[in-house]
Amino acid sequence: MVDFAIKGARIFDGETEHRHSAILIENGEIFSIVDEDKAPNDCEIISLDGGILVPGFIDLQVNGGGGVLFNDQRNVEALKTICEAHIKFGTTALLPTLITDKPDVTSQAIQAGIMAVSNQIPGMLGIHLEGPHLSVPKRGAHEETLVRKMTSNDLYELITAKQSLPVMLTTVATESVSNDQISALNEAGIIVSLGHSNASYNEARSAAAAGATCVTHLFNGMSGFNHRDPGLAGAALNTGGLYAGLIADYIHVDPAAISIALKAKEGPGKIFLVTDAMSTIGTDMTSFTLNGRVINRSNGMLTLENGGLAGADIDMISTVKNMIKIVGFEEAIRMASLYPAQAIGCDDKMGHLKTGALANIVHLSDDHDVEHVWINGSTQWKKMS
Ligand SMILES: [Zn+2]
Repeated sequence: MVDFAIKGARIFDGETEHRHSAILIENGEIFSIVDEDKAPNDCEIISLDGGILVPGFIDLQVNGGGGVLFNDQRNVEALKTICEAHIKFGTTALLPTLITDKPDVTSQAIQAGIMAVSNQIPGMLGIHLEGPHLSVPKRGAHEETLVRKMTSNDLYELITAKQSLPVMLTTVATESVSNDQISALNEAGIIVSLGHSNASYNEARSAAAAGATCVTHLFNGMSGFNHRDPGLAGAALNTGGLYAGLIADYIHVDPAAISIALKAKEGPGKIFLVTDAMSTIGTDMTSFTLNGRVINRSNGMLTLENGGLAGADIDMISTVKNMIKIVGFEEAIRMASLYPAQAIGCDDKMGHLKTGALANIVHLSDDHDVEHVWINGSTQWKKMS
């Protein structure tokens, strides 16, 4: 029994665009997409006035939102606030991301993530631990004194945590994590993402062979592409098994570099969008602190006192709009939905609007503004008309 149908908008299912069609939702999942005049008339009908329905966005790197920074507040309420702040920008699933911090803070963050998932907080997908096992020279905004090598206890804690989390991703540097540890993480089902690392091309390739499947914020916080030393950036592009997150605020990476990277990327791994958003999203805050250091917000940038970037001041629909200018509408949507779903192995249920997928749907206006967001078939946010 179909619960409801949505019609009156074009539908992009992740692969093709359907016109004059209705999308049918049953038990929180996509039942099917049918001709508009074939929609059942014994269920609720939501009639939209134009625009387009697209798969909900998936953001694998979200440090905060709605005034909350995950590092500061490791509890379920905080995670709910972060998810809610991002839903209005089209994000229907996200990984709250903990920036390098003390071991007890990491443990609390993991526990909060497990609780938030078991409480079924809408939008909560799992946890991303960015650090602390990074490279000191490429640590970026991560606190130097907290960066450290992975111990066997750290490895055990991560593997144990994964047993209670549907998705767990960790950003690590080859300088602080061995290939054996990468293999163990991978075998436990943890997504290993290389980042904040000075790895050489060959070191990155061997980490990928050991089980790393992802690269964190391509070009930022890593050995760059040099013609004599292609670095982690080169390995990310040239290794088909690696997916790569990208901050498309046009500040972290020049649009020309984005365009070059997309042309160069060896598949099947893809480049996907992340926001790397901090607590500022959905607020008018002008500054906040990270591990006691002040971060200022101005002109779309978040910067430490030394001028270094500290996360991004952008939401998902804004990065999608930036990407539309480079790759067009359909590919930009896939970079925010299908490709991150593939990167974490969730593309059976997310990243598209085909039969059997979760009804995580975003209604965009013809100007690509977010109008309405459903998660598991229930309205989570709707623009005031
Ligand atoms: Zn980072």
